Order: sequence, then C-alpha cells, then structure tokens
Amino acid sequence: MSILEPSALAHVPFVSVENMMRLVNDVGVEAFIGELAEYIENDFKRWPEFDKIARVASHSRDGVIELMPVADADYYGFKYVNGHPNNVRDGYQTVTAFGVFSSVATGYPLLLTEMTMLTALRTAATSALVGRYLAPAGADTMALIGNGAQCEFQALAFRTICGIETVRLYDIDPAATAKAAENLKAVGFNVTACETAEAAVEGAQIITTCTADKQYATILTDNMVGAGIHINAIGGDCPGKTELQRDILLRSDIFVEFPPQTRVEGEIQQLDEDHSVTELWQVMRGEVGGRTSDAQITLFDSVGFAIEDFSALRFLLEKTADTDYCVKLDLLADPDDPRDLFGMLRRAAPEAA
Ligand code: NAD
Repeated sequence: MSILEPSALAHVPFVSVENMMRLVNDVGVEAFIGELAEYIENDFKRWPEFDKIARVASHSRDGVIELMPVADADYYGFKYVNGHPNNVRDGYQTVTAFGVFSSVATGYPLLLTEMTMLTALRTAATSALVGRYLAPAGADTMALIGNGAQCEFQALAFRTICGIETVRLYDIDPAATAKAAENLKAVGFNVTACETAEAAVEGAQIITTCTADKQYATILTDNMVGAGIHINAIGGDCPGKTELQRDILLRSDIFVEFPPQTRVEGEIQQLDEDHSVTELWQVMRGEVGGRTSDAQITLFDSVGFAIEDFSALRFLLEKTADTDYCVKLDLLADPDDPRDLFGMLRRAAPEAA
C-alpha cells in the first residue's frame, strides 16, 4: 500500500448504495460477480495468511447483529450485518450491511461502503465458485427455494460460473416467486415457478436453499435429495436456524468455510462436534478432493465468512480508487500537529474566528 498524506487518509472514500448500483450496472452484474469470484478464490487460496475468528454475534428474539472482522498483513476489513427474518413483513430487509477496509500499517480506514448489495453479490459469487468445484459436470438446472433478496443474485452467479440456464423456483410466499420469476425471465433464464419444494427439485442437479426463518426449518427432506446432487445451503446461518433435515447431512460430503464458525451456525450444528467436514480453501488449493464421484451428494454448508467480505472490499477498493463512484467523507480528525487534537477543536470554536 502506498502511504498517503495524513490529510488524504482523513477523507475516507465512501461508496453509497446509489453509487454501488451504478458501478455494478456499468460493469454488468455477471461480469462483476465473475471478477469478484476470482478475488474470493485468490484469498481462499492464501487462507493461512489471514488472522481469522468466528464472527461476533449478538442474538435477540427477532434476529442477530454481527461483526465480521479479518486481516492479512496489509489490510483489515470488517462488515456489520444483521439477519432479521421478520423484517420483510414490516417492509424492511432481512439482511442489511456496511463495511470498512483499513490499512494495517496506519490503522486508517481506506474505504467505507454499503454492503447490502455487495453481500448479495459476494454470497452468490462464493456459492457459484464452490459450485464449480462440487456440482456435477454438465449441470444446467438449479432449484432455488426461497425467492427473496438473495435469489436472483444466486441464479446469475450460477449462470456465469457454472453454466446454469434453467431455474425452478419455490417460496412459501407466491408473491416472492412471482417477483423472482419476472426478474429472471427478464435476464434470459428458463424459469419454472413451482407450487411445492418437492416440485422445484425435480430435474435439478443443484439445489439452492436461501430461505429465512429463525428456527430449525425443514426446507429439504431426505427423500428430496437424489444421488449426485449438489446442495448450496445458504439460509441456515445462525444457532437454531437451519434448513436441511439431519438425514441429508449424514448422506452428504460436507464442505465448509471456517469450521469454528460453521459448527455453531451452519447445518452441521445438528451433528456431533467431531463429524468430518472438508474446508473449502483446501479443495481450492488442490490439497483435498472436491467432487470425486457422480453419485456423491455434496453439500456447501454456507454461513458466510469474513474473508469473502474482505475479498469484496479489496475488489471494491481497486475498482473505485480515484473514481466518482466514491465520495470523500470527512470521517477522521486530522490536526496539523497530530498531538494537538484539542488545539484543533479550540481553533474551530466560534469565538476563535
Ligand atoms: P429474504 O427474507 O429476502 O428472503 C427469504 C425468503 O424465504 C422469503 O421470500 C420467504 O418467504 C422464504 N421462505 C421462508 N420460509 C420458507 C420455506 N419454509 N420454504 C420456502 N420459502 C421460505 O432473505 P434473503 O436476504 O434472501 O436471505 C435468505 C437467507 O440467506 C437468510 O436466512 C439469510 O440469513 C441468508 N444469508 C446467508 C448468507 C451466507 O453467506 N450464507 C448471506 C446472505 C444471506
């Protein structure tokens, strides 16, 4: 990182929701996801270089608020994110987020950004990247169960990275399915809206579950998952919040991001603590196998890990540096003499003018 003048560092670039949407539309959603997936893959491949902890979660009756920090030798990133499944009922989103990316050398933030849109993009990019390692060869059809905010991003990522052209949709709320069907037909997918989850999985080689409910839900039962399927389970991401019947887990080879976090938050919270799982970074580095047979059921037990956000922040910093996608925020005090913080305040008082 180049060390900038302190006064330059004090004005922190900020990417608003409006500018994020402009950037993503200018780049193209699928191109953006494709490039972002490369950043995520590169960071997964250098996994041991990161200082990692499970995210810090503050649970309440209706949801969770989480901080997701991670650092390498040069950069520190964190995301603030919530998960409140009942929000939609009141016209609010289930998941909102913002994030910060900082210089390890100075501790100064280099970027502050909205991350609600960026989380949907990075979650989809991660899912499809993992799908490229685990989904059966030639997969062209995906079931999408849960047709809320994440749904279309998942479909686009799986088209870009895995070649999915047909999606089979199901949501307990038909309005959500109608919304997703319209959005996905508009961008060229073959779409079938289904009336049950059982109907949605018919003929699909990949099943994505992205529902939101703060309970041990059963979105997929064991009989719905045939040999050779890849399951991309993203909605079970909190203690007491899962989507898959336990029997499915016992038949699957399970792939995870960061085991200390997934054991608490993922589908595998339903299993014994020593149940064998495979870490994705090792698959990406070629150290262990991913899909090894046609009949194997593979499960990405996704909870979302801080390195994915770090990659997204790193990508965004490079994409937006010195562009008008950022505005400069007067976020940090920068006294001429770094030790004279009080003097700066005193000189700013009205009577000093
Ligand atoms: P959302 O509230 O916008 O959409 C969720 C949808 O699930 C709603 O349309 C709802 O009607 C539907 N649903 C609820 N119960 C269902 C059931 N039994 N069967 C079918 N559909 C059902 O939420 P979102 O932003 O799309 O997020 C979806 C899930 O993904 C959430 O649980 C969220 O916490 C999780 N998530 C995970 C990651 C990750 O990295 N793993 C990232 C972002 C979000």
